[in-house]
Amino acid sequence: MLIVGPPGAGKGTQAKLIAATFGIPAISTGDIFRDNIKNGTELGKQVQSIVSTGAYVPDSLTNEIVRDRLLQDDAVSGFLLDGYPRTTEQVAELERILDESGASLDAVVLLVADTDEVVQRLLKRAVDQGREDDTEDVIRHRQDVYNEQTEPVIALYRERGLVAEVDGLGSVDDVAARVTSALRDRGIAPRPADAV
Ligand code: ADP
Repeated sequence: MLIVGPPGAGKGTQAKLIAATFGIPAISTGDIFRDNIKNGTELGKQVQSIVSTGAYVPDSLTNEIVRDRLLQDDAVSGFLLDGYPRTTEQVAELERILDESGASLDAVVLLVADTDEVVQRLLKRAVDQGREDDTEDVIRHRQDVYNEQTEPVIALYRERGLVAEVDGLGSVDDVAARVTSALRDRGIAPRPADAV
């Protein structure tokens, strides 16, 4: 599964809950980049200035990281990707990876939240977490990049009938309940063995 939506819609929070419910790993490209930056790795050094301005890391680099991650053992029986694919080229790469492993996407959860709300949330997160890309200018840039590059990705998955749209406003628990019910409506329910 994928979880998509504008920056600040709550993807990371919901991704962790969905992943726990289904017993699959939540894989966040943003978290992978931030961990590498924090640990001063070669990759971290390469992407630090890009991430801090809110631009997208080049597809070639992002694709390689996701490919490696999806080939790890814990992702064999399913995964939830958060923050990928964000460009149509990344969509094509994900398709290649899935084809090679004989897998296919079950659903794309789209978290919807309006711009004013997400900007407010991100400004609050700036205070709580001190994320370097949560300043007002960078937040606006991230929204623009999302509208230009990632909206077309969502349109593509919508055409394929994979999108489960969920209102992202309200408490974490309310949104989580909506996600579960939207997935259930699409015939996707946790098996007893998945629940943790
Ligand atoms: P948010 O959804 O709040 O923007 P993320 O944690 O998903 O935050 O991403 C943070 C940053 O990491 C992005 O602004 C971008 O610089 C980089 N990034 C994450 N995922 C991708 C991706 N799939 N392609 C390119 N860059 C990415």
